[in-house]
Amino acid sequence: MKTIGLLGGMSWESSANYYEIINEEVKKILGGLHSAKVILNSVDFEEIEHLQHLGKWDELAHILSREAKNVQNAKADFLVICTNTMHKVAPQIEKNIDIPILHIADATAEILINDKIKNVGLLGTAFTMEQDFYKNRLKEKYNLNVLTPNKNDRKIIHNIIYQELCLGKINMKSKEKYLKIMDELVKNKAEAIILGCTEIAMLVNEKDTNIKLYDTTTIHAKKAVQYAINGV
Ligand code: GLU
Repeated sequence: MKTIGLLGGMSWESSANYYEIINEEVKKILGGLHSAKVILNSVDFEEIEHLQHLGKWDELAHILSREAKNVQNAKADFLVICTNTMHKVAPQIEKNIDIPILHIADATAEILINDKIKNVGLLGTAFTMEQDFYKNRLKEKYNLNVLTPNKNDRKIIHNIIYQELCLGKINMKSKEKYLKIMDELVKNKAEAIILGCTEIAMLVNEKDTNIKLYDTTTIHAKKAVQYAINGV
């Protein structure tokens, strides 16, 4: 079994979920007392969030490349960046390390394609919903049609992520807001919705709606286990 390198802390609330899902999955597949081999490097999110909102992506690329190198030096076989947003700097990180990165959008798109989804709604931070690094990968590499909420709704989604979910706060009113925005996306012909922020599944899941949901945390964590055990 390969050693999984997690670059986490963005936020730690979702990294904790990664750790749990990864170990549950290893237990399910290998049984007995098996558990995952994991190197976790968890950063201070306050610093990261500050630089994100200042648009200092080069500095973020520098910090996360340094931290990714530490994961590699600790003998992880591959890297899992436990946030959708910070995949914005995945290309720079990739240039600075020798181990492969399991890209969260690739893992998610592979499942969407397998499920024959063509039009998909995307919820995430404003960075993920509005910039090209994530949507274009889904469009250009996988030919998916990506729908995002309107400007006002994107702001609501974004603020709830940073002001509540990354702090571990689960608010029923926020859940209702998310569900309403998701319904809107379906009205606009989304066949399914990507929970494209690793904290969103803490707030909404399949029990809350009939809409097909693709939780990037679960998908990414399970992909990491598959790769660790089978090498693909
Ligand atoms: N975990 C989130 C994501 O998946 C948001 C936090 C961050 O900005 O990294 O995008």
